[in-house]
Amino acid sequence: MGNSISRRTLLKRGALLAGGLPFAASLLDQVQASPVITHPGTLSAPYAEAWTEKTIALSAPVPLKARLFANENPFGPCDKAKKAIMDACPTAYQYPFRSMPELTKKIADFEGIKEENILLASGSSPLLMAAALYYSRPGGNVITGDPSYEDLPSKAVRMGEKWVKVPLTAEYKLDLDAMEKAIDANTGLVYVCNPNNPTGTVVDAAKLKAFVERVSKRVPVFVDEAYIDYLPDPQGTTLIPMANSNPNIIVARTFSKLYGFAGLRLGYVVTQPEIIKSLTLHTEAFMSISATTLAGAIATYQDREYLDGALKKTLASKEYLYEVLKKEGYTYVPSSANFVLFPIKMEGKQFTDEMMKRGVGVRFWKFNNQEWCRVSIGRMDEMEAFASAFKEIS
Ligand code: PLP
Repeated sequence: MGNSISRRTLLKRGALLAGGLPFAASLLDQVQASPVITHPGTLSAPYAEAWTEKTIALSAPVPLKARLFANENPFGPCDKAKKAIMDACPTAYQYPFRSMPELTKKIADFEGIKEENILLASGSSPLLMAAALYYSRPGGNVITGDPSYEDLPSKAVRMGEKWVKVPLTAEYKLDLDAMEKAIDANTGLVYVCNPNNPTGTVVDAAKLKAFVERVSKRVPVFVDEAYIDYLPDPQGTTLIPMANSNPNIIVARTFSKLYGFAGLRLGYVVTQPEIIKSLTLHTEAFMSISATTLAGAIATYQDREYLDGALKKTLASKEYLYEVLKKEGYTYVPSSANFVLFPIKMEGKQFTDEMMKRGVGVRFWKFNNQEWCRVSIGRMDEMEAFASAFKEIS
């Protein structure tokens, strides 16, 4: 019965938003629509501003000297993960019915939470989309920092939500007080990205916990912790323990960053079983993950030797980047993640095009009347390629 009610609700929402188009052609197409590339490097006019990681990757010359536009981790996946993946290949004709609960249990044991409060999927993106679908209502709004990670709110907008963008503080951190003030009777969701993408900044852990405690009494809060593994104390910072007992808190994590699994696709959310049930109506979670990916994750989840090594190499490359920027007379936003945002002295698209001509892929932003470049942290040879290209055009 629960299913049929939900399907009716979905159809009704789809019909409302797409004037009665069939479900598949309305909801999913609507939220998944992405920029159109007419030929390499050229975006069709309505999407000229949507110069995303996907469009950069599709238009990049191959091979790139430095792939620094998607906040990936080139130090992973580690050898242990690769071996586990290879070992899982002979039985990869089987559905991974047992590996899914095995990984869920590992995560639950480590975090000290209930297994029923964890939902795995092929990356956190499908779960962000599920949340955008589930929490969107006609006339509703979603509150985020500005700039912040745009995936969830941009999908909510396609569902008819209003996107309330709250400028960051002078230190480029989420302005939690202003975000709280922005909540109104129509707010369906508050999205908190911590550390924030694209600034790499973190908010004070105690302040965030108090904020989420208060705000979740009024509206659901989605906390995206994609980059939390880069912090010195992820366990002291995560809001997973709060999500373990409060249906208005949803915490998202991913293996795409410090684990280096972006291409393998694995992520999860922690929240209450009733919310998990609702989110699974909006995305395929259980059957979306490959047996090989699960094998790699089971073999390396919380493998400190690998994670600490990747972290150390990331920090060394980041320090090098800071020095390059300083030497060239640039400032930057000190970052707690695997990317750095800094103000540039030319138009963003021109800057990234010039870097791309030199085999270096980076991303640009524009906010506070300023053009910015976001550089992901790569291997040292990639950072050196960045440095020599940057010196030529800075
Ligand atoms: N959340 C944030 C803040 C991100 O930056 C990203 C990807 O860059 C994602 C979620 C999506 O990650 P995934 O690869 O798990 O879908």
